[in-house]
Amino acid sequence: MLHLMEELAAGSRVLDLGAGAGSFPGAKAGLCLVRLDLQAPAAGCSGSYVRADAARMPFAPGAFDLIIGNHSLEHFCELEATVREIGRVLKPGGALYVAVPDATTLTDRIYRWMGRGGGHVNPFRSPEEVVGLIARLTGIEHRATRELYSSLSFLNAHNFVGRPQKKTILFARGNERFLAVFTWLLRWWDRRFATRLSRYGWSFYFGGWGAPESAEPWVNVCVRCGSGHSEAFLQKAGGIRPALGGWRSYRCPACGGFNLLVTGMSR
Ligand SMILES: [Zn+2]
Repeated sequence: MLHLMEELAAGSRVLDLGAGAGSFPGAKAGLCLVRLDLQAPAAGCSGSYVRADAARMPFAPGAFDLIIGNHSLEHFCELEATVREIGRVLKPGGALYVAVPDATTLTDRIYRWMGRGGGHVNPFRSPEEVVGLIARLTGIEHRATRELYSSLSFLNAHNFVGRPQKKTILFARGNERFLAVFTWLLRWWDRRFATRLSRYGWSFYFGGWGAPESAEPWVNVCVRCGSGHSEAFLQKAGGIRPALGGWRSYRCPACGGFNLLVTGMSR
């Protein structure tokens, strides 16, 4: 979703909705970035932070050029009121990016099992359900849907806050190389047996601009930071190397995490 911010002119306003300390690292210089959450972030965050209820946002109508709901809609108790507020505070012709987990996937089940629900109060089971909800309550036009693949980054020891749960022993206590192999195997299994074990959810593009030219899914998703990259981009970034067993590995261009390259995987 970072390319959306690249398209914005200096002074444009961006809302990171339900973000905690931020659902992405930062925005390019010159943008006015506002992070909104009901709970104050434990650490500092880039941009301005507003502590408020997403169902009753303290912003003027049409205040934002771009709204990002990056893995947050599944958490809002008053979902319909929140979606209506999104429609109110987005500028006419503005862009809306939403990413949510598919509640039927293995990844979301593991997440909820590890986190005793993980705060996911809105289980979405199809992309049509999300598109229909937003279109009905805001009138904002749907432009594109991208299927998201899992990285299991919440199981990565680099992302543990405090003492890890005992359940993490099932995942080699969050060892990054184990997760790289495990996620690769899930994709291989899916391709071999036409299952959906490596699927995570969907991202949606709504509004007057910003829809990608191609909504082809990125199967290479970093097991540390969750950033998705096309194979062509990783080739260009130059970080792909031969690894043990005929695999190829790469270091994530965003965070340096170790990953195994997945190639030739169709939908
Ligand atoms: Zn990464």
